[in-house]
Amino acid sequence: MIPVGRFRCYPIADGDRLYPKALLAGDDPERVVALPEEVSVPYTPLLVDSGSDRILIDTGAGPLADTTGRLERSLDRAGFKPADINAVVLSHAHPDHIGGLSLEDGTPRFPNARVLMSRKEYDFWHSVELRDKLGTGFVYGDAHLEQVIAMWINRYLPPVRERLEWLSGETEITPGVLVMDAPGHTPGHVAITISSGAESLLYAGDLMVVEGQAANPEWTTIFDLDALGIVRTRRRLFDRASADRSIVFHYHFGKVGRLERNGSQFQWEQL
Ligand SMILES: [Zn+2]
Repeated sequence: MIPVGRFRCYPIADGDRLYPKALLAGDDPERVVALPEEVSVPYTPLLVDSGSDRILIDTGAGPLADTTGRLERSLDRAGFKPADINAVVLSHAHPDHIGGLSLEDGTPRFPNARVLMSRKEYDFWHSVELRDKLGTGFVYGDAHLEQVIAMWINRYLPPVRERLEWLSGETEITPGVLVMDAPGHTPGHVAITISSGAESLLYAGDLMVVEGQAANPEWTTIFDLDALGIVRTRRRLFDRASADRSIVFHYHFGKVGRLERNGSQFQWEQL
């Protein structure tokens, strides 16, 4: 449990997956050398308990792999049931973030939760242009990856379609929990800050996937749709997090740290 003032934040492990390093290395040969052949990438939603509200940020991958879909077991271990969740916030619509939203029989997993996501994100993935081309390699240059994205969007979002509430711009969803645009990884990717008194936590979503991206903020991966955009967002939010001495939580690290600014780079200090 991570205390942030009056909030109690619980990392909820969904599992992890091995990624071939080529997916994460971008086009820089030095990074290719620096990474192991396969990188184990954890999927870690965060439960934020304010005492009166329980907000789950992201939902894991569901049955994307044998090693994922452990969200509910981890929730139980932290002392919560799906019915305890009042709100689910989706940082973006990639499969590893939306797969826990609904059960395999097509019912919502969290019966009492409103579901908040960026309108821009939803519209992007449901645009007429993309509907015809997603799955052909048009977006990422990888047809299989796109087919999985399309499958997960078509399977896990429709059961909650009626209860979706749209985010755009900065939105305080409950006192002290602020959602803000953090585009680049996807067009409607959002980040969340939890603030209480002098303490704060930045839920950075997929702004970083591997630790080396702190020291090399220009390092993008195949999953970042807008390379310039994510670098700009990363610098903006990391600048603020280091100035505020915020705790930083990355979905794909599963651990918390702080970012210390060092010239144009950042140093990741694990807590
Ligand atoms: Zn992700």
